[in-house]
Amino acid sequence: MPHVVLETRNLKKSFPMSGGKEIVVLEDINIKVMEGEFVSILGPSGAGKSTLLRIMAGLAMPSAGDIFYNGMPLKSVKPKIGMVFQSFALFPWLSVVENAELGLKSYGLSDEEARERAVKMLDIVGLDGFEDAYPRELSGGMRQRVGIARALALEPEVLFMDEPFSALDVLTADNLRSEVIDLWIQKKMPIKSVIFVTHNIEEAVFMSGRAIVLSHNPARVKADMSIDIPYPRNKSTREFQYIVDRIYTILTKPSEEIPFLLKLERYQFLPHAKVGAIAGLIEMVHDKGGRIDVSTLASELSMEVDDIFPLMEAAVFLGFGEIKEGDFIITDKGAVFSEADTLQKKEIFRDTALSNIQLIKQIMQVLSSTVKHRMSEDFFIDILENHFTTDEAWNQLETAIDWGRYAELFAYDYDSGELYLEQPAGQQQ
Ligand code: ADP
Ligand code: MG
Repeated sequence: MPHVVLETRNLKKSFPMSGGKEIVVLEDINIKVMEGEFVSILGPSGAGKSTLLRIMAGLAMPSAGDIFYNGMPLKSVKPKIGMVFQSFALFPWLSVVENAELGLKSYGLSDEEARERAVKMLDIVGLDGFEDAYPRELSGGMRQRVGIARALALEPEVLFMDEPFSALDVLTADNLRSEVIDLWIQKKMPIKSVIFVTHNIEEAVFMSGRAIVLSHNPARVKADMSIDIPYPRNKSTREFQYIVDRIYTILTKPSEEIPFLLKLERYQFLPHAKVGAIAGLIEMVHDKGGRIDVSTLASELSMEVDDIFPLMEAAVFLGFGEIKEGDFIITDKGAVFSEADTLQKKEIFRDTALSNIQLIKQIMQVLSSTVKHRMSEDFFIDILENHFTTDEAWNQLETAIDWGRYAELFAYDYDSGELYLEQPAGQQQ
Protein backbone atom coordinates (compact mmCIF):
# COMPACT_ATOMS: atom_id res chain seq x y z
CA MET A 1 0.00 0.00 0.00
CA PRO A 2 1.37 3.42 -0.87
CA HIS A 3 1.86 5.61 2.14
CA VAL A 4 -0.51 8.56 2.51
CA VAL A 5 1.58 11.58 3.45
CA LEU A 6 -1.18 14.15 3.57
CA GLU A 7 -4.92 13.82 3.60
CA THR A 8 -7.73 16.35 3.72
CA ARG A 9 -11.19 15.27 4.79
CA ASN A 10 -14.29 17.26 3.95
CA LEU A 11 -12.46 20.54 4.03
CA LYS A 12 -14.56 23.62 3.84
CA LYS A 13 -13.55 27.26 3.94
CA SER A 14 -15.80 30.26 4.00
CA PHE A 15 -15.07 33.91 4.62
CA PRO A 16 -17.45 36.28 6.37
CA MET A 17 -18.91 39.01 4.17
CA SER A 18 -20.52 42.28 5.07
CA GLY A 19 -24.13 41.97 6.17
CA GLY A 20 -23.54 38.75 8.08
CA LYS A 21 -23.34 36.68 4.90
CA GLU A 22 -20.48 34.39 4.07
CA ILE A 23 -18.76 33.37 0.89
CA VAL A 24 -17.93 29.69 0.53
CA VAL A 25 -14.56 29.30 -1.17
CA LEU A 26 -13.81 25.61 -0.61
CA GLU A 27 -16.41 22.90 -0.31
CA ASP A 28 -15.96 19.25 0.54
CA ILE A 29 -12.33 18.88 -0.46
CA ASN A 30 -11.07 15.33 -0.04
CA ILE A 31 -7.55 14.78 -1.27
CA LYS A 32 -4.97 12.13 -0.47
CA VAL A 33 -1.37 12.75 -1.40
CA MET A 34 0.85 9.70 -1.47
CA GLU A 35 4.54 9.43 -0.79
CA GLY A 36 6.45 10.02 -4.02
CA GLU A 37 3.71 12.00 -5.72
CA PHE A 38 4.06 15.29 -7.53
CA VAL A 39 0.51 16.59 -7.52
CA SER A 40 -0.76 19.69 -9.26
CA ILE A 41 -3.80 21.59 -8.12
CA LEU A 42 -5.28 23.36 -11.11
CA GLY A 43 -8.02 25.91 -11.26
CA PRO A 44 -8.86 29.33 -12.62
CA SER A 45 -7.70 32.46 -10.80
CA GLY A 46 -9.74 33.13 -7.72
CA ALA A 47 -10.87 29.51 -7.48
CA GLY A 48 -9.36 29.04 -4.04
CA LYS A 49 -6.09 27.28 -4.84
CA SER A 50 -3.93 29.41 -2.57
CA THR A 51 -6.50 29.20 0.19
CA LEU A 52 -6.48 25.41 -0.09
CA LEU A 53 -2.69 25.26 -0.13
CA ARG A 54 -2.37 27.45 2.93
CA ILE A 55 -4.87 25.28 4.79
CA MET A 56 -3.09 22.08 3.79
CA ALA A 57 0.18 23.57 4.98
CA GLY A 58 -1.36 24.52 8.31
CA LEU A 59 -0.89 28.25 7.66
CA ALA A 60 -4.65 28.91 7.74
CA MET A 61 -7.57 27.23 9.45
CA PRO A 62 -10.38 25.49 7.59
CA SER A 63 -13.97 26.37 8.53
CA ALA A 64 -14.71 22.66 8.72
CA GLY A 65 -12.95 19.37 8.03
CA ASP A 66 -9.59 17.90 8.96
CA ILE A 67 -6.05 17.55 7.72
CA PHE A 68 -3.82 14.61 8.50
CA TYR A 69 -0.08 14.12 8.11
CA ASN A 70 0.96 10.48 8.06
CA GLY A 71 -2.39 9.66 9.58
CA MET A 72 -2.03 12.13 12.46
CA PRO A 73 -4.10 15.29 12.82
CA LEU A 74 -2.15 18.31 11.58
CA LYS A 75 -2.78 20.19 14.82
CA SER A 76 -0.99 17.59 16.89
CA VAL A 77 2.08 17.02 14.70
CA LYS A 78 3.13 20.48 13.51
CA PRO A 79 4.97 19.16 10.44
CA LYS A 80 7.84 21.01 8.84
CA ILE A 81 6.47 22.88 5.86
CA GLY A 82 8.36 24.02 2.81
CA MET A 83 6.57 26.74 0.94
CA VAL A 84 7.54 28.48 -2.29
CA PHE A 85 5.46 31.46 -3.33
CA GLN A 86 5.08 33.35 -6.54
CA SER A 87 6.97 36.37 -5.29
CA PHE A 88 10.46 36.04 -3.98
CA ALA A 89 10.01 36.91 -0.35
CA LEU A 90 13.70 37.45 0.33
CA PHE A 91 15.05 39.88 2.87
CA PRO A 92 17.13 42.44 0.97
CA TRP A 93 19.49 43.03 3.88
CA LEU A 94 20.38 39.35 4.22
CA SER A 95 22.79 37.53 1.94
CA VAL A 96 21.68 34.60 -0.18
CA VAL A 97 22.86 32.02 2.32
CA GLU A 98 21.38 33.95 5.26
CA ASN A 99 18.08 34.02 3.43
CA ALA A 100 18.29 30.32 2.71
CA GLU A 101 19.01 29.34 6.31
CA LEU A 102 16.21 31.48 7.64
CA GLY A 103 13.87 29.42 9.72
CA LEU A 104 16.27 26.55 10.25
CA LYS A 105 17.36 27.66 13.68
CA SER A 106 13.81 27.59 14.99
CA TYR A 107 13.97 23.84 14.34
CA GLY A 108 16.84 23.50 16.77
CA LEU A 109 19.73 23.37 14.32
CA SER A 110 23.03 24.84 15.42
CA ASP A 111 24.52 27.73 13.41
CA GLU A 112 26.94 25.38 11.69
CA GLU A 113 24.30 22.79 10.83
CA ALA A 114 21.99 25.47 9.47
CA ARG A 115 24.74 26.98 7.35
CA GLU A 116 25.83 23.60 6.05
CA ARG A 117 22.33 22.66 5.00
CA ALA A 118 21.62 26.02 3.39
CA VAL A 119 24.85 25.84 1.37
CA LYS A 120 24.02 22.31 0.26
CA MET A 121 20.56 23.29 -0.93
CA LEU A 122 21.87 26.37 -2.73
CA ASP A 123 24.28 24.07 -4.50
CA ILE A 124 21.44 21.76 -5.50
CA VAL A 125 19.41 24.59 -7.03
CA GLY A 126 22.42 25.82 -9.00
CA LEU A 127 23.52 28.74 -6.83
CA ASP A 128 26.93 27.45 -5.91
CA GLY A 129 29.19 30.52 -5.61
CA PHE A 130 26.36 32.97 -4.93
CA GLU A 131 26.14 32.34 -1.17
CA ASP A 132 27.37 35.79 -0.21
CA ALA A 133 25.52 37.77 -2.88
CA TYR A 134 22.57 39.98 -1.96
CA PRO A 135 19.09 39.62 -3.45
CA ARG A 136 19.42 42.86 -5.45
CA GLU A 137 22.33 41.33 -7.35
CA LEU A 138 20.23 38.38 -8.50
CA SER A 139 17.90 37.93 -11.45
CA GLY A 140 14.29 36.95 -10.82
CA GLY A 141 15.02 33.34 -11.64
CA MET A 142 17.94 33.23 -9.22
CA ARG A 143 15.90 34.80 -6.46
CA GLN A 144 13.27 32.14 -6.95
CA ARG A 145 16.04 29.54 -6.69
CA VAL A 146 16.89 30.97 -3.29
CA GLY A 147 13.23 30.63 -2.36
CA ILE A 148 13.30 26.99 -3.36
CA ALA A 149 16.58 26.36 -1.50
CA ARG A 150 15.11 27.95 1.61
CA ALA A 151 12.05 25.70 1.44
CA LEU A 152 14.18 22.61 0.82
CA ALA A 153 16.63 23.40 3.61
CA LEU A 154 13.90 22.61 6.11
CA GLU A 155 13.78 19.07 4.69
CA PRO A 156 10.01 19.17 4.73
CA GLU A 157 7.99 16.05 3.95
CA VAL A 158 5.86 18.01 1.55
CA LEU A 159 7.03 20.87 -0.61
CA PHE A 160 4.23 23.31 -1.35
CA MET A 161 4.57 25.54 -4.37
CA ASP A 162 2.09 28.27 -5.18
CA GLU A 163 2.45 29.40 -8.81
CA PRO A 164 6.22 29.54 -8.29
CA PHE A 165 7.11 30.32 -11.89
CA SER A 166 4.31 32.67 -12.86
CA ALA A 167 6.23 35.87 -12.19
CA LEU A 168 9.24 34.82 -14.25
CA ASP A 169 9.84 35.47 -17.92
CA VAL A 170 8.99 32.57 -20.22
CA LEU A 171 12.51 31.32 -20.79
CA THR A 172 13.58 31.49 -17.17
CA ALA A 173 10.37 29.78 -16.10
CA ASP A 174 10.92 26.98 -18.62
CA ASN A 175 14.48 26.41 -17.44
CA LEU A 176 13.52 26.37 -13.81
CA ARG A 177 10.63 23.96 -14.43
CA SER A 178 12.96 21.52 -16.16
CA GLU A 179 15.52 21.81 -13.41
CA VAL A 180 13.01 21.28 -10.63
CA ILE A 181 11.67 18.22 -12.45
CA ASP A 182 15.19 16.86 -12.90
CA LEU A 183 15.87 17.28 -9.18
CA TRP A 184 12.56 15.58 -8.43
CA ILE A 185 13.17 12.59 -10.71
CA GLN A 186 16.70 12.16 -9.47
CA LYS A 187 15.39 12.37 -5.91
CA LYS A 188 17.84 15.12 -5.05
CA MET A 189 15.33 17.08 -3.03
CA PRO A 190 14.94 16.01 0.62
CA ILE A 191 11.15 15.73 0.33
CA LYS A 192 8.51 13.03 -0.07
CA SER A 193 5.86 14.78 -2.10
CA VAL A 194 5.16 18.01 -3.92
CA ILE A 195 1.87 19.88 -4.03
CA PHE A 196 2.03 22.37 -6.83
CA VAL A 197 -0.60 25.03 -7.43
CA THR A 198 -1.01 26.53 -10.87
CA HIS A 199 -3.59 27.93 -13.28
CA ASN A 200 -1.37 26.91 -16.19
CA ILE A 201 -2.46 23.60 -17.70
CA GLU A 202 0.70 23.03 -19.71
CA GLU A 203 2.79 23.62 -16.65
CA ALA A 204 0.79 21.08 -14.67
CA VAL A 205 1.07 18.49 -17.44
CA PHE A 206 4.79 19.17 -17.82
CA MET A 207 5.56 18.79 -14.13
CA SER A 208 3.17 16.53 -12.32
CA GLY A 209 2.22 12.91 -12.09
CA ARG A 210 -1.29 13.78 -11.10
CA ALA A 211 -3.59 16.73 -11.63
CA ILE A 212 -6.43 17.73 -9.36
CA VAL A 213 -8.77 20.10 -11.15
CA LEU A 214 -10.83 22.46 -9.01
CA SER A 215 -14.14 24.00 -9.94
CA HIS A 216 -14.99 27.58 -9.11
CA ASN A 217 -17.53 29.14 -6.71
CA PRO A 218 -17.03 27.17 -4.55
CA ALA A 219 -13.98 25.09 -5.34
CA ARG A 220 -14.63 21.37 -5.35
CA VAL A 221 -12.54 18.60 -6.82
CA LYS A 222 -13.84 18.41 -10.36
CA ALA A 223 -11.40 15.81 -11.60
CA ASP A 224 -8.42 13.93 -10.26
CA MET A 225 -6.35 12.25 -12.92
CA SER A 226 -2.95 10.70 -13.22
CA ILE A 227 -0.54 11.87 -15.90
CA ASP A 228 1.48 8.89 -16.99
CA ILE A 229 3.79 10.46 -19.55
CA PRO A 230 7.43 9.54 -18.90
CA TYR A 231 9.85 12.31 -17.89
CA PRO A 232 11.36 14.42 -19.28
CA ARG A 233 8.25 15.51 -21.11
CA ASN A 234 7.99 17.12 -24.48
CA LYS A 235 5.19 19.62 -24.97
CA SER A 236 4.92 18.98 -28.68
CA THR A 237 4.03 15.29 -28.47
CA ARG A 238 0.50 14.17 -29.23
CA GLU A 239 0.26 12.50 -25.86
CA PHE A 240 1.11 15.73 -24.07
CA GLN A 241 -1.33 17.81 -26.10
CA TYR A 242 -4.02 15.21 -25.61
CA ILE A 243 -3.83 15.55 -21.83
CA VAL A 244 -3.67 19.34 -22.03
CA ASP A 245 -6.82 19.35 -24.20
CA ARG A 246 -8.55 16.99 -21.86
CA ILE A 247 -7.85 19.12 -18.79
CA TYR A 248 -8.87 22.21 -20.70
CA THR A 249 -12.18 20.55 -21.52
CA ILE A 250 -12.71 19.59 -17.90
CA LEU A 251 -11.92 23.10 -16.70
CA THR A 252 -14.40 24.65 -19.10
CA LYS A 253 -17.27 22.16 -18.84
CA PRO A 254 -19.98 22.37 -16.21
CA SER A 255 -19.48 19.88 -13.38
CA GLU A 256 -22.49 17.75 -14.38
CA GLU A 257 -20.83 16.74 -17.63
CA ILE A 258 -17.55 15.76 -16.07
CA PRO A 259 -18.38 12.22 -14.89
CA PHE A 260 -19.29 11.36 -18.45
CA LEU A 261 -16.11 12.90 -19.81
CA LEU A 262 -13.95 11.14 -17.28
CA LYS A 263 -15.26 7.79 -18.36
CA LEU A 264 -13.53 8.40 -21.64
CA GLU A 265 -10.09 7.43 -20.57
CA ARG A 266 -7.53 7.80 -23.28
CA TYR A 267 -9.85 7.57 -26.23
CA GLN A 268 -9.55 4.61 -28.51
CA PHE A 269 -8.81 5.60 -32.04
CA LEU A 270 -10.87 3.40 -34.33
CA PRO A 271 -8.99 2.56 -37.50
CA HIS A 272 -11.03 3.57 -40.53
CA ALA A 273 -11.90 0.13 -41.77
CA LYS A 274 -15.16 -1.30 -43.02
CA VAL A 275 -16.29 -4.60 -41.55
CA GLY A 276 -16.41 -6.20 -44.99
CA ALA A 277 -12.74 -5.44 -45.56
CA ILE A 278 -11.69 -6.57 -42.09
CA ALA A 279 -13.57 -9.85 -42.49
CA GLY A 280 -12.05 -10.35 -45.95
CA LEU A 281 -8.54 -9.91 -44.59
CA ILE A 282 -9.07 -12.30 -41.70
CA GLU A 283 -10.52 -14.99 -43.93
CA MET A 284 -7.74 -14.68 -46.43
CA VAL A 285 -4.97 -14.93 -43.84
CA HIS A 286 -6.78 -17.80 -42.14
CA ASP A 287 -6.89 -19.65 -45.47
CA LYS A 288 -3.16 -19.13 -45.82
CA GLY A 289 -2.44 -20.88 -42.56
CA GLY A 290 -3.16 -18.09 -40.10
CA ARG A 291 0.16 -16.28 -40.22
CA ILE A 292 1.69 -14.10 -42.91
CA ASP A 293 4.47 -11.59 -43.27
CA VAL A 294 2.93 -8.12 -43.52
CA SER A 295 4.85 -7.04 -46.62
CA THR A 296 4.11 -10.35 -48.37
CA LEU A 297 0.46 -9.79 -47.55
CA ALA A 298 0.61 -6.31 -49.00
CA SER A 299 2.15 -7.46 -52.25
CA GLU A 300 -0.30 -10.35 -52.60
CA LEU A 301 -3.16 -7.92 -52.20
CA SER A 302 -1.44 -5.35 -54.43
CA MET A 303 -1.87 -2.84 -51.63
CA GLU A 304 0.49 -0.56 -49.78
CA VAL A 305 1.36 -1.64 -46.23
CA ASP A 306 -0.07 1.68 -45.08
CA ASP A 307 -3.40 0.80 -46.62
CA ILE A 308 -3.77 -2.61 -45.03
CA PHE A 309 -2.51 -1.34 -41.70
CA PRO A 310 -5.90 0.04 -40.59
CA LEU A 311 -7.46 -3.33 -41.45
CA MET A 312 -4.92 -5.21 -39.35
CA GLU A 313 -5.24 -2.70 -36.53
CA ALA A 314 -9.01 -3.11 -36.57
CA ALA A 315 -8.59 -6.88 -36.46
CA VAL A 316 -6.28 -6.49 -33.44
CA PHE A 317 -8.79 -4.20 -31.68
CA LEU A 318 -11.49 -6.78 -32.21
CA GLY A 319 -9.34 -9.61 -30.92
CA PHE A 320 -9.22 -11.37 -34.30
CA GLY A 321 -5.56 -10.82 -35.02
CA GLU A 322 -2.11 -10.01 -33.60
CA ILE A 323 0.88 -8.32 -35.10
CA LYS A 324 4.19 -9.89 -34.08
CA GLU A 325 7.68 -9.58 -35.53
CA GLY A 326 6.38 -8.19 -38.80
CA ASP A 327 3.79 -10.95 -39.16
CA PHE A 328 0.04 -10.73 -39.02
CA ILE A 329 -1.36 -13.68 -37.07
CA ILE A 330 -4.96 -14.82 -36.77
CA THR A 331 -6.05 -15.55 -33.18
CA ASP A 332 -8.28 -18.47 -32.18
CA LYS A 333 -11.21 -16.10 -32.11
CA GLY A 334 -10.28 -14.88 -35.58
CA ALA A 335 -10.16 -18.49 -36.83
CA VAL A 336 -13.61 -19.23 -35.41
CA PHE A 337 -14.89 -16.03 -37.01
CA SER A 338 -13.40 -17.02 -40.39
CA GLU A 339 -15.14 -20.37 -40.41
CA ALA A 340 -18.50 -19.18 -39.09
CA ASP A 341 -21.56 -18.64 -41.25
CA THR A 342 -23.00 -15.17 -41.72
CA LEU A 343 -25.31 -15.22 -38.74
CA GLN A 344 -22.67 -16.61 -36.40
CA LYS A 345 -20.21 -14.06 -37.71
CA LYS A 346 -22.52 -11.26 -36.75
CA GLU A 347 -22.94 -12.74 -33.30
CA ILE A 348 -19.20 -13.13 -32.73
CA PHE A 349 -18.60 -9.64 -34.02
CA ARG A 350 -21.32 -8.25 -31.75
CA ASP A 351 -19.79 -9.82 -28.62
CA THR A 352 -16.28 -8.73 -29.39
CA ALA A 353 -17.31 -5.19 -30.40
CA LEU A 354 -19.29 -4.76 -27.20
CA SER A 355 -16.42 -5.81 -25.03
CA ASN A 356 -13.53 -4.22 -26.92
CA ILE A 357 -14.79 -1.10 -28.62
CA GLN A 358 -15.32 1.81 -26.30
CA LEU A 359 -17.31 3.97 -28.69
CA ILE A 360 -19.72 1.17 -29.55
CA LYS A 361 -20.20 0.38 -25.88
CA GLN A 362 -20.91 4.02 -25.20
CA ILE A 363 -23.36 4.42 -28.05
CA MET A 364 -25.21 1.38 -26.74
CA GLN A 365 -25.30 2.83 -23.23
CA VAL A 366 -26.69 6.10 -24.46
CA LEU A 367 -29.27 4.53 -26.76
CA SER A 368 -30.44 2.08 -24.10
CA SER A 369 -30.87 4.82 -21.56
CA THR A 370 -33.04 7.11 -23.69
CA VAL A 371 -36.78 6.51 -23.81
CA LYS A 372 -37.00 6.36 -27.58
CA HIS A 373 -33.73 4.47 -27.95
CA ARG A 374 -32.67 7.11 -30.43
CA MET A 375 -30.11 9.85 -30.32
CA SER A 376 -28.97 12.45 -32.79
CA GLU A 377 -25.53 11.98 -34.32
CA ASP A 378 -24.64 15.49 -33.18
CA PHE A 379 -24.74 14.33 -29.60
CA PHE A 380 -21.99 11.79 -30.27
CA ILE A 381 -20.03 14.20 -32.42
CA ASP A 382 -20.04 16.66 -29.53
CA ILE A 383 -18.51 14.08 -27.24
CA LEU A 384 -16.00 12.91 -29.81
CA GLU A 385 -14.91 16.47 -30.47
CA ASN A 386 -13.47 16.50 -26.98
CA HIS A 387 -10.93 14.01 -28.23
CA PHE A 388 -10.64 14.46 -31.98
CA THR A 389 -10.82 17.16 -34.61
CA THR A 390 -14.26 17.63 -36.18
CA ASP A 391 -13.31 15.64 -39.29
CA GLU A 392 -11.88 12.83 -37.26
CA ALA A 393 -14.93 12.81 -34.97
CA TRP A 394 -17.10 12.14 -38.05
CA ASN A 395 -14.71 9.44 -39.25
CA GLN A 396 -14.86 7.78 -35.87
CA LEU A 397 -18.63 7.88 -35.75
CA GLU A 398 -18.92 6.60 -39.31
CA THR A 399 -16.70 3.64 -38.51
CA ALA A 400 -18.64 2.88 -35.33
CA ILE A 401 -21.93 3.02 -37.27
CA ASP A 402 -20.58 0.64 -39.90
CA TRP A 403 -19.47 -1.82 -37.22
CA GLY A 404 -22.63 -1.37 -35.15
CA ARG A 405 -24.87 -1.98 -38.15
CA TYR A 406 -23.01 -5.11 -39.12
CA ALA A 407 -23.35 -6.39 -35.55
CA GLU A 408 -27.03 -5.42 -35.66
CA LEU A 409 -26.57 -3.47 -32.47
CA PHE A 410 -27.77 -0.13 -33.76
CA ALA A 411 -28.59 1.48 -37.03
CA TYR A 412 -28.54 4.89 -38.60
CA ASP A 413 -31.54 6.80 -39.86
CA TYR A 414 -30.43 8.80 -42.89
CA ASP A 415 -33.47 11.05 -42.82
CA SER A 416 -33.16 12.26 -39.26
CA GLY A 417 -29.45 11.76 -38.73
CA GLU A 418 -30.16 9.67 -35.66
CA LEU A 419 -28.70 6.46 -34.33
CA TYR A 420 -31.21 4.00 -32.97
CA LEU A 421 -31.24 0.60 -31.34
CA GLU A 422 -31.94 -2.28 -33.67
CA GLN A 423 -33.81 -4.25 -31.06
CA PRO A 424 -34.76 -2.00 -28.20
CA ALA A 425 -34.57 -3.87 -24.92
CA GLY A 426 -38.01 -5.04 -23.85
CA GLN A 427 -39.32 -5.09 -27.40
CA GLN A 428 -37.65 -8.29 -28.40
CA GLN A 429 -39.97 -11.10 -29.23
P1 ADP B 1 -6.56 31.39 -6.22
O1 ADP B 1 -5.30 31.14 -5.50
O2 ADP B 1 -7.16 30.15 -6.80
O3 ADP B 1 -6.45 32.45 -7.25
P2 ADP B 1 -7.49 32.34 -3.65
O4 ADP B 1 -7.38 31.15 -2.78
O5 ADP B 1 -6.44 33.36 -3.53
O6 ADP B 1 -7.67 31.89 -5.16
O7 ADP B 1 -8.89 33.05 -3.39
C1 ADP B 1 -10.12 32.37 -3.55
C2 ADP B 1 -11.27 33.27 -3.16
O8 ADP B 1 -11.27 33.48 -1.77
C3 ADP B 1 -11.23 34.61 -3.82
O9 ADP B 1 -12.54 34.95 -4.24
C4 ADP B 1 -10.77 35.53 -2.72
O10 ADP B 1 -11.33 36.80 -2.91
C5 ADP B 1 -11.32 34.86 -1.49
N1 ADP B 1 -10.49 35.11 -0.31
C6 ADP B 1 -9.24 34.66 -0.11
N2 ADP B 1 -8.78 35.07 1.10
C7 ADP B 1 -9.76 35.80 1.66
C8 ADP B 1 -9.94 36.50 2.90
N3 ADP B 1 -8.96 36.48 3.82
N4 ADP B 1 -11.10 37.11 3.13
C9 ADP B 1 -12.09 37.10 2.22
N5 ADP B 1 -12.01 36.45 1.04
C10 ADP B 1 -10.87 35.81 0.75
MG1 MG C 1 -3.43 32.00 -5.73
